[in-house]
Amino acid sequence: MMRCDILTLFPKMISSVLEESILKRAQEKGLLKVRIINIRDYTTDKHKMADDYPYGGGAGMVMKPEPIFNAVGAIKKDYPELRIIMVSPQGETFNHNKAVELSREKNRLVFICGHYEGIDERVRLGLDAEEISIGDYILTGGELPTLVVIDAAVRLIAGVLGDEESARHESFADFILDYPQYTRPPEYKGMNVPEALLSGNHEEIRRWRRRQAIINTYYKRPDLLEKIKLTDEDKKILNEVKKEV
Ligand code: SAM
Repeated sequence: MMRCDILTLFPKMISSVLEESILKRAQEKGLLKVRIINIRDYTTDKHKMADDYPYGGGAGMVMKPEPIFNAVGAIKKDYPELRIIMVSPQGETFNHNKAVELSREKNRLVFICGHYEGIDERVRLGLDAEEISIGDYILTGGELPTLVVIDAAVRLIAGVLGDEESARHESFADFILDYPQYTRPPEYKGMNVPEALLSGNHEEIRRWRRRQAIINTYYKRPDLLEKIKLTDEDKKILNEVKKEV
């Protein structure tokens, strides 16, 4: 079970995603608990200002520290042990290992979503927040990155996906990309589903899939092959693939 508080100025951006599909079902099953907290509710001035001009000048607005500290302080009263995460392009890049780590986190996760030019630096310093980036590009806000991180972690929790197998075989689960998938019809626009998949022979299907996964990885992400311990079968396939090249 993952417990999260999401601090945002745009709660509907979060709720609209959490109310659909697998994330919705995970909450219904009690495997994911999310509270969406509107940072503006923790402002103390009459205009409910959550952002202000940057010291030193420059374009855009900066999110103020007080409402975020107030919101985190309120959470801490009930849950003293928190893991505080600021999604930020300056953080460590998110990957499968981080998703596994977060899916096993026992403490409550608090995600802080930035917006505009970002968040007053004293939030990161004062809350000792860890930063997570979802890639080397800039988005308009932290809501989408937070959802990306939660989605990737939650689907690794046992019981969230209908079929436990689907998470285990996927790309990155063992640093090998996934094999190609096919569904009906067996022939489409002159392209046929590979014979092995139609054979009904489990061993033949397993071998075909492993071979295709290695071929995929070799062509698309050869760097991954250096991270894994290949079985004798894998090495044989890889040598054959290299010879074909
Ligand atoms: N000025 C900031 C900088 O260059 O580091 C970027 C601010 S960005 C426009 C606004 C917010 O979007 C950030 O505070 C962060 O929460 C979120 N964000 C943008 N890109 C992101 C990324 N690649 N990964 C995670 N969060 C991101």
